[in-house]
Amino acid sequence: MNVKELVAIDIHTHAEEPCGTHPDDGYDDLQAAMAVYFNQPNNRPTIEETASYYRERKIGAVIFPVDAERETGYRRYPNEEVAEKAAANSDVLIPFASIDPAKGKTGAREARRLIRDFGIRGFKFHPSMQGFYPNDRSAYVLYEAIAEARVPALFHTGQTGVGSGMPGGAGIRLKYSNPMFVDDVAVDFPEMPIILAHPSFPGRRKHCRWPNISRTSISTCPAGPPNTFRRS
Ligand SMILES: [Zn+2]
Repeated sequence: MNVKELVAIDIHTHAEEPCGTHPDDGYDDLQAAMAVYFNQPNNRPTIEETASYYRERKIGAVIFPVDAERETGYRRYPNEEVAEKAAANSDVLIPFASIDPAKGKTGAREARRLIRDFGIRGFKFHPSMQGFYPNDRSAYVLYEAIAEARVPALFHTGQTGVGSGMPGGAGIRLKYSNPMFVDDVAVDFPEMPIILAHPSFPGRRKHCRWPNISRTSISTCPAGPPNTFRRS
C-alpha cells in the first residue's frame, strides 16, 4: 500500500461473505433486516468487490469479519481467509481479525499466530454481537496478546443495526456496547491503541482523557447522528 496515492483510509469495513459458502440458517434473515435498516440492498459484497469499490475511489480500507458464532449461532468466517484475500488486494486493504474473547487462552494464541503468520494489523470487537462486556476480566488474556503487539483494538460502541426490526432484536443486546465499559480497558491497557467505532454515549468527551483512545465518526443510524453530535 502506497498511502501517498490514497486520499483517505476507511478504518471500518466488514467482510460479510469472504468464503462464498452458503450462510447458516437464519443468517439470510438477519442480513435482509440489516439491508432494510441501512437502506443498502447489496449489503454483502465480497472482499474483492469491497477492494474494487475502494480502489476506484483511491481509498484504503481496514477490513474484518466478526466472530460472533457463540452468541449468535452463525458460522464464523475464518480470519485466515480474510487475511489472505486482503493480502491479495494489499494496495487498498488492511486486515484486522476478530476473535470472541470467550475463547480465552485459545483466542490469545490465535491472535498471536494471526499477527505473526497472517499480517493481521488489529482486532475488531463487537460487544453486542459477541455478547460480552469489554471490561470483563475474562477478555483480558486476549487483550494482553493484542497489547504486547501494540496493534489497535477497535470496539463497536452504541447503537447497532444488527437485529434491527427483528423479534427481540435477534437477541442482540445494546447494553454491552456502552462505551463506558471500554474505560476500564483503556486504563488497564495503556499501551494498547483503542478505537471507539461510531458516535455513542456516555463518554464521548470523557474518553478524550486517555491518549490511547481515538474515535470514528461514522454513524450506525441511517438518518445520521443526532444534532447533539453534529454540534459537539
Ligand atoms: Zn462494525
